[in-house]
Amino acid sequence: MHDYFNITRDDAADILNVDENLSELLDAAYTLRKKYKGNVVKVQLLTNVRSGNCSENCAYCAQSGHNDVEIQKYRLVAYDKLMSDGKTVRDKKLVRHCIGFSGIRFGDKEVGEFAAYVRGLKSVSDADICCSVGFLTESQARVLKDAGVNRINHNLNSSRRFYPNICTTHSYDDRINNILMLKRLGFEICCGGIAGMGESRGDVVDMLFEIKNIAPASVPINFLVPIDGTAVDRSGVAELTPEYCLKILCLARLLNPAADIRAAAGREIYLKGYEKEMFRVVDSVFASGYLTVGGQSPDDTIKLITDLGFDYAIE
Ligand code: SF4
Repeated sequence: MHDYFNITRDDAADILNVDENLSELLDAAYTLRKKYKGNVVKVQLLTNVRSGNCSENCAYCAQSGHNDVEIQKYRLVAYDKLMSDGKTVRDKKLVRHCIGFSGIRFGDKEVGEFAAYVRGLKSVSDADICCSVGFLTESQARVLKDAGVNRINHNLNSSRRFYPNICTTHSYDDRINNILMLKRLGFEICCGGIAGMGESRGDVVDMLFEIKNIAPASVPINFLVPIDGTAVDRSGVAELTPEYCLKILCLARLLNPAADIRAAAGREIYLKGYEKEMFRVVDSVFASGYLTVGGQSPDDTIKLITDLGFDYAIE
C-alpha cells in the first residue's frame, strides 16, 4: 500500500498502472477534500468571450484556425450577452465566473477591451473573475489585474514530453514562463490539463507533478471530448474508464491537497453514474458547458450536487 499523503512519482505511476484499491484511494482523497474543502462543491460558469480563429495548432481545440471545426467564431461576444451571463452568476450565487478568450497574443488595445468587459462583469456581480487569455505581457497582465481579474487560467494540458504531439506553434516552456510571470504579479493561478489525447500514463504523472510544482489555486482536469474536425488522436479516449478518470482526480487531490480540484470537460460523459465518488475528490465543476461544447445546466448541476448530499458554494 502506498503512503497516499506523500505520493512519489513511482507511487503515482503504480496507482495509474496497476489495479489500485480504488476505495482506499478515494478514502485518502476524501480525507484531504474534507479537511480543506468541507462538503462544498463550487459551481462555475464559463463564457467564451472571444471564439475561434486562433493562430495556434493545439490539436484538441475547436478554436484553432488549423482545425476545421464548425463553431461560432466571434472577435468579442456581445456585451449584453456577457452581462446576462454575469447576472446568471449573480442570481444563482455562483462563486466565480470564468471567461475565455481564444488566441495566444493580443495587442494592448484588445486587452483594454477585455478589461472593459471585466469591469462590466464586476458591476453586476461580486463573483471572482478567472480569465483564460493566452500569453500576456507583464503590462497587459497588470491592466487585467486593475480591472478586477483575480485568477488566470493557463493549462499545461499534457506532459513536457508529449506536448509536441499536441502543439508545435508554441512550447511548453512558453506556457510555464507565462504562468510564472502571472504568479509574480500576484494572480491566483488555475492550471490543469487534459487526459485521453493518446498520452501514456507516465505522461499524466509527469503533467500532474509539473502542475504540483506550479502550486496552483485551482486544478481543472479535463477528459478529452473529441470534436469532429480537430486533429487530436481520439483513440486515447478508450483509456478513459470511470476508474481511470477517478484515479487521475485522486492524484490531483493528493498532490494539491488544498487546491480547488475541478472535474472539467468530459465529466458528464466519462464519470456519468460515478458522481458520488467524483465529489468525494473534487470540490469544483463547471455548469452550462465548456468553451465550444455543451454541458449540464446550472440548475441540473446544483440538483445533482445536493441530491448526492453535498452543498454547493455560496460565498
Ligand atoms: S487551446 Fe488556446 S492557444 Fe490553443 S488553439 Fe485553442 S484557443 Fe488557441
